[in-house]
Amino acid sequence: MMEVCDRDLDKFDVADMLNDELGDASGFLEISYRELCSNHAQEMIELQDRDDSDTETLLNFMSRFPETQFLQYLNAEAPVLRKNATRAQQLRDQGNKAYEKANNTMALHLYTQSVRFSPYQQPGLGVELALAYANRSAVLVQAKEWRLALQDIDLSFSAGYSSDLHYKLLERKAKILMEMKDFESAKNSFQDCISSLPSAKLEEDKRENLKLTLTNLINSLQDKKDQSPSDKSKKSAFPNLSSPNPKFPALSSSVDIKFGSSTGRFAVATRDIALGELVCVEHPPVAFLHEETSGINCSNCFRLSLAPLPSPTCTQTVFCSTICQDQAMASYHVVESKFMDVLFQNGLKKKEWFLALRAITQKPLQFFLDIRERLSKDQHNINFGVTEEKDFVYNSSDYNSLYNLVGHHEQWDFQSHAYKAFFALFFIRCLQKSKFFLQHQSPNQSLGPVELYIGRLIVHLMEVATMNAHEIGQLELSGSDNWLLGNTTSVGCALEPTLVLLNHSCDPAVYRLNIGTSTYCFACRPLSAGDEVTNCYTYSYDVTPKIERAPPLLTKYKFQCMCVACKENWPVSSFLPKAFNDVEPNKLKISDPSSLQQKMAIIQQVGAKIHRLQQEEDYDSAMGLYSQFYNALHDLIVPPHQFYVIARRSYATCLWVKHGNKVRRKN
Ligand SMILES: [Zn+2]
Ligand SMILES: [Zn+2]
Repeated sequence: MMEVCDRDLDKFDVADMLNDELGDASGFLEISYRELCSNHAQEMIELQDRDDSDTETLLNFMSRFPETQFLQYLNAEAPVLRKNATRAQQLRDQGNKAYEKANNTMALHLYTQSVRFSPYQQPGLGVELALAYANRSAVLVQAKEWRLALQDIDLSFSAGYSSDLHYKLLERKAKILMEMKDFESAKNSFQDCISSLPSAKLEEDKRENLKLTLTNLINSLQDKKDQSPSDKSKKSAFPNLSSPNPKFPALSSSVDIKFGSSTGRFAVATRDIALGELVCVEHPPVAFLHEETSGINCSNCFRLSLAPLPSPTCTQTVFCSTICQDQAMASYHVVESKFMDVLFQNGLKKKEWFLALRAITQKPLQFFLDIRERLSKDQHNINFGVTEEKDFVYNSSDYNSLYNLVGHHEQWDFQSHAYKAFFALFFIRCLQKSKFFLQHQSPNQSLGPVELYIGRLIVHLMEVATMNAHEIGQLELSGSDNWLLGNTTSVGCALEPTLVLLNHSCDPAVYRLNIGTSTYCFACRPLSAGDEVTNCYTYSYDVTPKIERAPPLLTKYKFQCMCVACKENWPVSSFLPKAFNDVEPNKLKISDPSSLQQKMAIIQQVGAKIHRLQQEEDYDSAMGLYSQFYNALHDLIVPPHQFYVIARRSYATCLWVKHGNKVRRKN
């Protein structure tokens, strides 16, 4: 009898774990998993008793339960999410009403919705799509978003905009080009407009009048000189690694990866590194936009576009440009859009697990069959990259780099293994729905060898993602406030095989920002040759006290942090000294009163200058002064001190404003 009670408790544990960590009650996966655990309690208990955490064994075992077929969810039609010409037309009509009332924000939103729901049929793509783009271009003209307006006009033509209306769009295009001072192209567009007039449904006198107006406009442009090419140079250039590390090309040559038998892989400075130096640029091999941001930001590069392009195959995804649309369609999106609606209803809290799915969907099955040997269980090497021969290059895009990241498989408990396998089965069923496995797809509910192999990769990458995924952020601001008041929010997540080689510190040596899905790391303080180059995985010391930082590092990342902030138990920012007179005497590096005064004066003057420049939004000039501020501070006071925290935070914001993903929302 006692035994039964214990088992019942185990079942409750599963439920608790789900609530705390893995799912949420609104998703169907939690419901399915609870059903499975209660319908097959005896078998699950027997499995637990065998304590076999082998992934393929678990997948095989659980695939036999009908609950892991997910039939009712995968076969459910979701008509509200499908492309729908009538809905697209209704949305466009509503957009027209908003436009007539000069509510451009609403009009833009509704036209974009219309773009998303418009049927997308090759060739010509669709009447609704062409009309939605055309109408949206008018709103974009009002907003002086010239480039986006031009893009919409071109997209409308490609979508098959009716030839009797071409003259309208061509005239709009010419006027935009005039605004952009690209007079040569404007003339050509006016000329195209005249050429299109014979097909226009216009009364003869109107047609003649329009022709005359257009000819006059062309004549007025004869002597105008183009001024547009400078537009490109105005755009701030992406920061670049001037001298990459030949073996780890995502790192600067100022950083190298070392390896110790007890410490694993870690990064060190090969020379002195100045504050603000770029030390790592990583373009992640796998990234996934969060569900909440999907349909708003570009699913491919995560940038927000005022006028996004639709997915050709589903309504939940948008793209910023034809480039991103083409890239997605050539890799993951064709596979994923066949189950996108189901994917986003599962209630998964561990968003990083989607990375495991994306790592699979972005390559064809043959890719994984070709590298099967290298990704076998006994090939996993957590020191990959440092134990290879001399001329080996550690590339972020290499699936070996991804595969060999740590997942700590042996440290997960049975319940987590079972749930991971259950979740991976959901991904496998999704892949089966999109015919990903081709001729290797099993004809019945048990899995074939290729499906098991992919399933094992998915589970492993779920573990890897749990340990290694980073958030991808964007800086957000409302109205006309100063950027320094902005907040960084997470829009997606990514796996960065080089960045994760840096160890954690609660007082890290680098500051990260995101441009698109890429991560750029800058030194946030001067480093000396031989210093360890660290990154912060979770919370920094100034925000979260040690008592709260330590448990997640131990449970999630399986280590006890030995950084200086942890060893000396530095207080959070609000409990740090805030001025010069509250610094303890033993924390002052200078005792001579006159040099002390001198240093304090420098810190105060430079600090005030930085503050003024930031208020004027001259972030470049402000950043130019940080070294001076930091060095004076460092000569005077032993960290920690609130001045260090403020300097790091405001420098980081300047960097992000200058380079990173950012969005200013209208009030
Ligand atoms: Zn994009
Ligand atoms: Zn620490």
